[in-house]
Amino acid sequence: MSCNISKLEPQNVWKYFSEICAIPHPSSHEEAIREYVVNFAKSHNLECTVDKANNIVVRKPATPGMEGKKVVALQSHLDMVPQKNNEKVFDFTKDAIQPCIDGEWVTADGTTLGADNGIGIAATLAVLADDKIQHGAIEALFTATEETGMHGAFGLEGGVLNADILLNLDSETEGELYVGCAGGLDANITFKCENVKIEGDYKTFEIYVKGLKGGHSGVDIILKRANANKLIFKALKIVNEKYGVQLASIAGGDLRNAIPRESKAVVLVPVEFEAEFIKEIKTFEVEADAQYKGIEIGVEVALTPVEAVATMIDPKVTINLINAICDVPNDIISMSTSMIGLVQTSSNLAIVKSNEGEIHIECLLRSSSNDEKDSLAKDMASVFEAQGAIVEFTGGYSGWNPNMESPILKAMGDSYEALYGKKAEVTAIHAGLECGVIGGVYPKMDMISFGPTICFPHSPDEKVNIESVAKFWDFLCNTLNNAPQK
Ligand SMILES: [Zn+2]
Repeated sequence: MSCNISKLEPQNVWKYFSEICAIPHPSSHEEAIREYVVNFAKSHNLECTVDKANNIVVRKPATPGMEGKKVVALQSHLDMVPQKNNEKVFDFTKDAIQPCIDGEWVTADGTTLGADNGIGIAATLAVLADDKIQHGAIEALFTATEETGMHGAFGLEGGVLNADILLNLDSETEGELYVGCAGGLDANITFKCENVKIEGDYKTFEIYVKGLKGGHSGVDIILKRANANKLIFKALKIVNEKYGVQLASIAGGDLRNAIPRESKAVVLVPVEFEAEFIKEIKTFEVEADAQYKGIEIGVEVALTPVEAVATMIDPKVTINLINAICDVPNDIISMSTSMIGLVQTSSNLAIVKSNEGEIHIECLLRSSSNDEKDSLAKDMASVFEAQGAIVEFTGGYSGWNPNMESPILKAMGDSYEALYGKKAEVTAIHAGLECGVIGGVYPKMDMISFGPTICFPHSPDEKVNIESVAKFWDFLCNTLNNAPQK
């Protein structure tokens, strides 16, 4: 294995990437890399500003004769994800990443490489440093702290960029052009409730829905996997209506952006219906398992007798809760009409948890259409409010709706075909990207996201394909040369 990556082509990109690897830059420790970019701008006599959110903008004028081109922003993020193998002794805030050539790939030794998004930064610096590339005016935007919440993008103000076009250099498959992403909104729902004393003869059971695959609530929602919270409440509705089964406690899901794999409820079963209840849950398990055949490996609805509890949730609140959760829109809400196979709007009933005096519910709504996201939020609020819950929305950000008529998409599609004799794949993602957030502040911005091929980002196995970096670079230069006129 050789570690001399600066000999690779294109040399300038690898030279800058090698310098970036030597500067510690995990999320929220970006001072040194910021200083490096600011010093780079100074030494190349380029205008440079740092905003309140620690984003850097470097401006380079058009090459002579190219002044008529639209202004292009080249965007990458400054931070990297710090992940290492267990046995590796490494301090991401102090130690330099050691990039190595391994066959067709550049990888690091037991740590993340930071090709996400170091190659994007390096390519931008290589454009800024090069006098031979033909391009219109360029604004290089380096955003802060993308990996842990897109803080730089959220802090970016209007009026900072003059660009008409934004090229985000943070995608991970060469030959793919991203033209859309989903925005998000967090729903926080509370049912206030008094726990009441148990009167009458009940047997106490735990119902445990488990064995589900779960997955990312955006990217994996298309797979139509089971949601453990939805399933358990479907079962609760049946046994509550038929046998008067009551709820003592509920705990399902733990992350807002993960499809819940497990959900547990402690329930009180009137003694006279114990046998029917057990049979009913067994039937429910068999039916749920059949419903998800081919999607889930197996749906398990385990039933265990447990120790008696002292109180239960107010039966009126339990009915309201069951009704709301069974009725609330969940999963895929709509598919995109401009791109086949893309989920446009979805919701994930992520967490349902009873605490002292309240039941707390969290959902994550996503949509590439801001209007649709707003109307889903209204629908959701009315379902819960009709059952007496308090609904609050927080953390909203914009989606990026695919524009198949985009001038930069046309220009890049033509460039790619001319360079490589095949069509670039046009795609979109049902998850948040910085482009969505930036497009929320700059709604007229014509945007594309692309990049070299990076495998296993955010893990110690991260690696970037060497040939794809060369193709990405040629394509970037070609795109700048062929960018649309003003
Ligand atoms: Zn990234």
